[in-house]
Amino acid sequence: MFVCRFKFLLAALFFGLSLSAVAKNISIAVLAFSGEEYARTSWQPTVDYLNAHILKHRFRLIPIEPSNIEYLDQLVQQQKVDFIITQPVTFVELQVKYGATSILTLVDASKSSEFGSVIFSRSDSDIVNFPHIRGKSIAGANPKGLGGWLIGYNELKQHNVDVINQSKVSFLGVQENIVRRVLDGSVDVGIVRTGVLERLANSKNLDLAKLRVLNQKKVKDFPCLLSTSLYPEWAFVKASHTSKLIAKQVASTLLLMTPGSKEATARGYWEWVTPINYQPIHDLMKSLRVGVYQDFGKVSFVQYIKDNLVLSSMFFIVLIVLVMTGLWVLRLNNRLKIINYFIEQQNNMILDSVSEGIYGVDLAGKCTFINQALTDILGWDKQDMLGKLQHEILHHTHADGTPHPSNECPVYETFMDGEARFIDKDTFWKKNGQSISVEYSATPIKDKLGNIVGSVVVFKDITQQIEHQKLQKKYEQDLEHVSRLNTMGEIVTGIAHELNQPLTVISTMAFTGAGLIKSKQYDADKFLDIFSMLSKQAEHAANVIKHMRKMSNKDQSDYALIDINARIKGVITLLQALIKDNNIQLRLDLNQTLPLVFAQAVQIDQVVLNLCKNAIDAMDGSDKHKVLGIKTRCLDKTIEVAIMDTGNGIDADIVEHLFDPFSTLKKNGMGMGLSISRSIIERHYGNLYVAKSTHNMTTFKFTLPIKAPHE
Ligand code: ADP
Repeated sequence: MFVCRFKFLLAALFFGLSLSAVAKNISIAVLAFSGEEYARTSWQPTVDYLNAHILKHRFRLIPIEPSNIEYLDQLVQQQKVDFIITQPVTFVELQVKYGATSILTLVDASKSSEFGSVIFSRSDSDIVNFPHIRGKSIAGANPKGLGGWLIGYNELKQHNVDVINQSKVSFLGVQENIVRRVLDGSVDVGIVRTGVLERLANSKNLDLAKLRVLNQKKVKDFPCLLSTSLYPEWAFVKASHTSKLIAKQVASTLLLMTPGSKEATARGYWEWVTPINYQPIHDLMKSLRVGVYQDFGKVSFVQYIKDNLVLSSMFFIVLIVLVMTGLWVLRLNNRLKIINYFIEQQNNMILDSVSEGIYGVDLAGKCTFINQALTDILGWDKQDMLGKLQHEILHHTHADGTPHPSNECPVYETFMDGEARFIDKDTFWKKNGQSISVEYSATPIKDKLGNIVGSVVVFKDITQQIEHQKLQKKYEQDLEHVSRLNTMGEIVTGIAHELNQPLTVISTMAFTGAGLIKSKQYDADKFLDIFSMLSKQAEHAANVIKHMRKMSNKDQSDYALIDINARIKGVITLLQALIKDNNIQLRLDLNQTLPLVFAQAVQIDQVVLNLCKNAIDAMDGSDKHKVLGIKTRCLDKTIEVAIMDTGNGIDADIVEHLFDPFSTLKKNGMGMGLSISRSIIERHYGNLYVAKSTHNMTTFKFTLPIKAPHE
């Protein structure tokens, strides 16, 4: 509002110069905020004033509404307009873009060349300062209006009140509306151009006492209520191409205009003064990033690169290296994925091609994978198993129907204690509800760091195998029994002979005794001899029968500590007659200090009987001196029994398969004796073998451990 008092002098000077200018049509564009019509009627007197004072040129008015601001831009750019009367923001835009300059500043009706904003609330509201505005509703005229928004908004921003983000903002167009809405309480705070409140108060449309001006400022000579800094008023602008001379003529003419003239008041201003500094408008636009300054402060990418060439180059090199590394890693990753895929495929193929069922379990006991054989054996497929508790599916119940608690599950125990285990017989349950017998190994799975992450189970269906074993055992037992009976049958003749002898003696003695009684010869010593003989012979016969019974009994006797020498003597009792009939000399060499062994007596008898019977058979029909030798001795940890005969040795045809079942060269032989004998001895953890066989003698030996296997 610094009105220059030397304007008349300047105007006279410029006016003189104007005489030499060339006559032209001069266009003056004017921003028509209140519509073209109003602009034309209100500004025309000013234009007429120019035409009246600068006769050489013809001044013409071009009103342009703010909505058509691009048209003004176009006119200035194409040099089709010489002067522009406009508000400060548009002037700054034209200045920055096209080099336009301000030649005059308008002084408004309040005789001020500057203006600002008034920020106000209702006097009875609790909003008494700027910070109170946060969270409240605030209204302005329009988002691009200077006094009615931008100046107030900027002031608030400088006081750290960001109304855009912290308040509810509305734009009400006409500034009177803002005042009305604050008064009726529908808006908490209003922003209007300075002078608006006074104008309304003067026209009796407002009681100023009802409003509270926030952050009120007092500026010397400024006549209106004010909340913000002051900014220069409208500018009379010269386009860059417009002749300086004409500009001087125009400026000087308008400077000479009488303040408050009818031309000025037609548009509601007071006068024109020499231009004042528009830098505050530049600063405001920069601060709010408005118009040409919308990117102010943002550094463009290219500019940044130029400013930081070394840093940028390094950044780009690092970026390229990173990108290339990234690509390389990506490629590597892809290749690894492919390799992984093939390995997985291969693993699956291997897993699926084995006949044993395989599955994995995690630390929660949930199944992590299964192979095809598992599905084939048990009927459970991946859908049934994966992610489910394996124990509840496969292992929940024992074969006898009692529950199998999961804390006793060997698969779980494996990953708990990290020990691999082999279970030779257990029960797994099929999907159809049937159970099968299985043998399986459970092995802990470890990660790269050696931590146990689960266990893997490899199992085999042994149901058939167990059935087969049962059958086999029964078959062997039956066979053993048949074989024993067979052998017994063969020696029964001999036994009959053996029994005959005591019976004959008994009969003879009884007859003798009867004769003595009849002859009344009561010789007590003789009777004692007879009864003693009778008793001995009867005992001998009873022993033979007892042993025979034992031998033919199918039930297996239990393990017990037995005296091998005694067992051999018992068997010899059975063979006595046979040995005698075949003129065989029996040579017993039994070690008297032989320890007892833990064995099934009848089974060992069976072996001794078989070996002796074979020895007797081997000497059958021979003219040589026949000897059956039986020797026992004690070795380091075993006792050894050797049975020797002077037969013709083992036939070459059979020597290879001697211990195989059904290997016999005898007419009525079964070929089971040696096979059964060996399995009996092996069951006792001993060995049965041919120690020596020549053309005139054969020795079979067997050993038995002195200590019981469980000792
Ligand atoms: P079997 O007596 O019913 O033939 P074994 O298994 O007891 O069945 O014997 C198989 C065969 O071994 C006999 O047939 C015989 O040829 C041979 N063998 C067994 N013991 C002797 C032996 N001491 N001397 C010669 N050959 C023997």
